[in-house]
Amino acid sequence: MSSPRRPADVRTLAIHAGSRLPESSAVPITPAIYPAVVSWFDSSDALDDALEGKDFVYTRIRGENSVLLEDAVAALEGAEAAAVFGSGMAALRAVFDAQGFAPGDRVVLPADGYGATRALFKRLADQQRVELHALKLSEATASERIAALRPKLVLAESMTNPLLAVPDLPAIARAAHAVGAVFLVDATFTSPALQQTLAQGADYALHSTTKWINGHSDATGGVVSGTRARIDPLRSARVLEGALLGPFESWLTLRGLRTLPLRMAAHCAHALHVARRLREHGGIARVLYPGLADHPDHATARTLLTGGFGGMVSFEIARAGRAESFRFLERLKLCRPAPSLGDVTTLVMHAASASARRLTPEERAAAGIGENLIRVSVGLEDPDDIAEDLLQAVGGARP
Ligand code: PLP
Repeated sequence: MSSPRRPADVRTLAIHAGSRLPESSAVPITPAIYPAVVSWFDSSDALDDALEGKDFVYTRIRGENSVLLEDAVAALEGAEAAAVFGSGMAALRAVFDAQGFAPGDRVVLPADGYGATRALFKRLADQQRVELHALKLSEATASERIAALRPKLVLAESMTNPLLAVPDLPAIARAAHAVGAVFLVDATFTSPALQQTLAQGADYALHSTTKWINGHSDATGGVVSGTRARIDPLRSARVLEGALLGPFESWLTLRGLRTLPLRMAAHCAHALHVARRLREHGGIARVLYPGLADHPDHATARTLLTGGFGGMVSFEIARAGRAESFRFLERLKLCRPAPSLGDVTTLVMHAASASARRLTPEERAAAGIGENLIRVSVGLEDPDDIAEDLLQAVGGARP
């Protein structure tokens, strides 16, 4: 559009003046935030192309900040493409729905994984008349069970929430692919800084970016990476269903991602230190950290987690039920009793009432999630300050 004719009404000028930057070849060191929901074009042909998704015209179709975040995640994953969503749950739902299940098809998911994922899959499976089978994928029999079940989709968590089991992804991928199943890996707990799950056999690598990728607990988001052939249908569905990630969240998440490898290196070092110190406390029955030599999946973790053993530590308070676990949380002075993970701040959670809340008591018992299980997302504070706070809150016998 050309400049308004002069003299123009102040109301017209207020709306139209200052709407185009002068020509420039400058590339900002930090991308701009693009809050505009819609753009206009001098040429109607250009607008027509944009409505086909070839340029930016409407945020739900294709948003500038989302595309930048998708490019960055795809690069870290070694993927052809990525699609971002408004949350990790929206990403999981998009992948489930993209499979085009027929009634009677089977889906395998982790018995010891995130409770809300299990609740979501139950709901979708009921709606689509699909059978759900919960397996402990880190157990040696997992591949045989997959071979016998012949599922259409297998979901694994690269490190399970909250027990921190590390399944052998290449072995599960082989078993899944041998029966024609698609393999989806929720790698939220490890992040692309520690593990590229597509190279380990996943067909889709999924993250809740709300966690480590963003790293600052100020934006929800989800992302799925894979081949263009797998990601394009997710994007097309997102255009119609609207589960997009807004420009501000995309921008914040990209900003967080810039420091992901450096943060993860520190989170891993701090978590190992905290795990070792917790082990020395007589009031702690068991410490789970994949970096400890006595963790059941330590050998698998050494092979697959090439960037480190992660920032999560779980432990069981000796002889504690729910009431004692709640009191433990209330005695924390530095660490925050908050039900999330992946933040610069140490976040501590009672697993049974938070991440496993959506499981039935029987499902929790089968998974091995007791009322005394505490999950810690180890932050970037001084690791001895973190350990001291956890130890004082456990109370009782100290070494
Ligand atoms: N996947 C895992 C392993 C999670 O722990 C979570 C949330 O805690 C999600 C997915 C869901 O992510 P969001 O809260 O971004 O929807």
